[in-house]
Amino acid sequence: MPDSSFASLTTLRVGGAPAELIRCTTAADIAATVARLDAAGTPLLVVGGGSNLVVADGALDLTAVLVANEGIELIDDSTLRVAAGTTWDEVVAYAVAQGLGGIETLSGIPGSAGATPVQNVGAYGSEIADVLTRVRLYNRETGADEWAPADSLELAYRYSNLKFTNRAVVLEIELALERTELSIPLRHLGGERLPLAEARENILATRRAKGMVLDDADCDTWSAGSFFTNPVVPSALADEIEAKVGEAGMPRYAVGGTEEKLSAAWLIEHAGFPRGYPGEGAPARLSTKHTLALTNRGSATAADIVDLARDVQAGVEEQFGVRLVPEPVWIGF
Ligand SMILES: Cc1cc2nc3c(=O)[nH]c(=O)nc-3n(C[C@H](O)[C@H](O)[C@H](O)COP(=O)(O)OP(=O)(O)OC[C@H]3O[C@@H](n4cnc5c(N)ncnc54)[C@H](O)[C@@H]3O)c2cc1C
Repeated sequence: MPDSSFASLTTLRVGGAPAELIRCTTAADIAATVARLDAAGTPLLVVGGGSNLVVADGALDLTAVLVANEGIELIDDSTLRVAAGTTWDEVVAYAVAQGLGGIETLSGIPGSAGATPVQNVGAYGSEIADVLTRVRLYNRETGADEWAPADSLELAYRYSNLKFTNRAVVLEIELALERTELSIPLRHLGGERLPLAEARENILATRRAKGMVLDDADCDTWSAGSFFTNPVVPSALADEIEAKVGEAGMPRYAVGGTEEKLSAAWLIEHAGFPRGYPGEGAPARLSTKHTLALTNRGSATAADIVDLARDVQAGVEEQFGVRLVPEPVWIGF
């Protein structure tokens, strides 16, 4: 029998077994399965690519519903309709091959298309909110299967009203792209625009160098991506932190009158947690390529990952008075 534990369903490769794993290959099947489990009061977890999940060790009292409906359809000159279970990076590759721009900067983000609205995935200055027009939802409160406009999801930085609420399951998404030869401006290249396919390759190479493209052979990618969101703090606290570190060039971005967004990776590094912390031999370590990714070196348990997360969180809070908030969804803790 195939292994149905979360260690094999998630990119962090930790976590115990669900009571049951149900793989659904059509939208109707997903909706009917979730409806049936909800009616029976059976706790469930909707799972896509498992790349933003931290699941506890041991037996879990929940049914995992694996979203595995696949398909990409060009429904007019530049609009894609994508089944939720489609691998996200295949959607990007398809768009680029069709000469459709708008998502090339989101190349290499692991997981499923249906999960992209859940935390409004983003990278290199763009996010799914820029192109998402509507989502087909199975509403778990009303039982309705209906298309909802993207703006009903309250998409914001690594957030939507689907994240943590479990109120609905994404069955399909629609993206309004643009016929173009050139990419959107690439922030990490000073706003330069490259031919679409070149932009995609550039993003993939840049992400690979940081361990941000899944690779079975590289434990630096056995992660949930960025483990903490970039914190927004009062400007006065940002001033204090910069003065305390005594180093010019702390990344800080205005997000309103009196608040600024800081870099979680910078804070972690400057709180005394270098890449690879706590060092060779530890089952869970910070990535050796990027401080913001907590990684499984091959034998980590969920408890090891959580201990490391708490260690880093406490260290940053003690040094700088900033409580980092985890980005992935935690289950069973
Ligand atoms: C190496 C690496 C790099 C990453 N880089 C980025 C990045 O650059 N930017 C970024 O934003 N994220 C990044 N991530 C995080 C992750 O890839 C995204 O959040 C992704 O969208 C998660 O998709 P998934 O299908 O794996 O979701 P899962 O991990 O399976 O699920 C995550 C959450 O979404 C819910 N969910 C999943 N599918 C659905 C659905 N169809 N309907 C309703 N709810 C659903 C789940 O219940 C769970 O709560 C990275 C992760 C890794 C491992």
